[in-house]
Amino acid sequence: MSRSIPNVLTIAGSDSGGGAGIQADLKTFSALGAYGASVVTALTAQNTCGVTAVHTPDASFVAAQIDAVFGDIGIDAVKIGMLSNARIVRVVAAALRRYEPRCVVLDTVMISKSHRALLEPDAVAVLRDELLPLATVVTPNLPEAAALLGVVPAADEPEMLRQGEALRAFGAHAVLMKGGHLAAPDSPDWLIDASGSHRFGGPRIAVSNTHGTGCTLSSAIAALVPQRADLRSAIADAKAYLLDALRESGRLSVGSGIGPLHH
Ligand code: PLP
Repeated sequence: MSRSIPNVLTIAGSDSGGGAGIQADLKTFSALGAYGASVVTALTAQNTCGVTAVHTPDASFVAAQIDAVFGDIGIDAVKIGMLSNARIVRVVAAALRRYEPRCVVLDTVMISKSHRALLEPDAVAVLRDELLPLATVVTPNLPEAAALLGVVPAADEPEMLRQGEALRAFGAHAVLMKGGHLAAPDSPDWLIDASGSHRFGGPRIAVSNTHGTGCTLSSAIAALVPQRADLRSAIADAKAYLLDALRESGRLSVGSGIGPLHH
């Protein structure tokens, strides 16, 4: 890469409260030395207590934003978050096939921690069939992996690995199964790729500010892939960044619900 600062694009929803979605992604890009561009797939009226309304633009407007970005800005990596519905999933898939970015980090956002659906149920299979084959790495948590496969969520690490392999069979280059939902003292993530599997151990950080953790990890991976030798080292450093952002979240005084991370 000739540029020293990578250009990274997030295709995701806006969180008016600033803790998740586009806002978390852009803060993460900046913190990790990347320039951030953004394509907004949904506007959420949201704070730390929950989502009160969602406005979804027409899929053609999402396509127009993507064309504007790729028509001018050399993009080194793309992070994909909330996509709202099947029409937007299809438009994003078509754009990725057309522009062929080197790195696509697909965060399979489905439901917020405040229990609001961020992807219509009939879009889950479309996302699996159209977007997984275009992903460099897909980053489901355990309920999302189960929804994509139509099975119950993994309750232990061997089952996490099996489900990760089953998801990879849909065509993703790699799958990062996030173990935060395991009933375990730590929070292991498993990477499944062509060379096998790799465990990323990690402590469970006991904080109440966890809003935007998935957004932050996936955007950190997208920011770091162009700056690291391989996907594994990008994920290891992205996870370290997330743990720091969780540890530092106690310095924030933002809202009375599930608070954000400190970037
Ligand atoms: N809102 C938006 C716009 C998001 O993209 C996401 C996550 O991807 C969330 C909310 C959910 O955040 P969390 O489940 O971490 O509270």
